[in-house]
Amino acid sequence: MPPLRVDLAIVGAGIVGLATALQLRRLAPSLRIALIDKEARPAQHQSGHNSGVIHSGVYYRPGSLKASNCQRGYRQLLAFCEAQDIPYDICGKLIVATQESELPYLEQVYQRGVANGLTGIAKIGPAAVRDIEPHIRAVAAIRVPQAGIVDYRRVAARYADLLRADGVDCLLGNAVRHIQRSGQRTIVLTDHAEVHARLLLNCAGLYSDKIAALAGQVSEIQIGRASW
Ligand SMILES: Cc1cc2nc3c(=O)[nH]c(=O)nc-3n(C[C@H](O)[C@H](O)[C@H](O)COP(=O)(O)OP(=O)(O)OC[C@H]3O[C@@H](n4cnc5c(N)ncnc54)[C@H](O)[C@@H]3O)c2cc1C
Repeated sequence: MPPLRVDLAIVGAGIVGLATALQLRRLAPSLRIALIDKEARPAQHQSGHNSGVIHSGVYYRPGSLKASNCQRGYRQLLAFCEAQDIPYDICGKLIVATQESELPYLEQVYQRGVANGLTGIAKIGPAAVRDIEPHIRAVAAIRVPQAGIVDYRRVAARYADLLRADGVDCLLGNAVRHIQRSGQRTIVLTDHAEVHARLLLNCAGLYSDKIAALAGQVSEIQIGRASW
């Protein structure tokens, strides 16, 4: 098979790689993109095995990039689900303290939530907690009405559908084995394909240190010892 020539190769079809591909495609429709993942379907790693919470930004330091990104991402995710008819439920959540020693941290989270502009956030006692969820034993809790749940596998699958429909090459079932530079190009060798790209974007989640190492990047950051 002849090499696939693209402007951008993205390694990783988890939520980060998929969303990045979609956004870049919208910003630069002429950009040729290849999205590469070793699994046969998107979101087979962390993105498909998380808690499914739509975070509202309660935990993060007020004024931080994480706080503002979380709130922006919250609004964008809900808008995406609405536009794509993907079910979600803003059911709210409880952050609980199960013992007295956790109360100072709970108070800190509450103060952060208020400072981050969450409306309706409230401190509640054990009886109110039991009314909402009888199986919880807590000394106190914070109720965060904005938090919700969604099936991130479904979100990811829709991202992949949109990317394919928009002409992005989705090379699933293609583990990246070698990465080398050749002039201005980066050559990515997978099990089944050879991709020549101007730019390589590493969205490989817990394997991103390995992809960085394959690309010859020396990093002090190392994630676990798993091999593929
Ligand atoms: C226990 C837990 C619960 C969580 N709960 C939530 C939650 O409720 N809400 C929330 O918003 N966030 C939650 N998160 C965080 C969220 O799930 C992650 O931030 C997100 O999924 C990371 O996405 P990713 O695309 O970076 O990684 P991943 O989804 O892991 O994607 C990385 C991709 O890279 C691919 N890859 C790796 N190596 C190669 C290779 N050599 N060649 C080709 N492909 C490769 C993998 O196959 C994989 O598909 C949770 C995290 C954890 C750990």
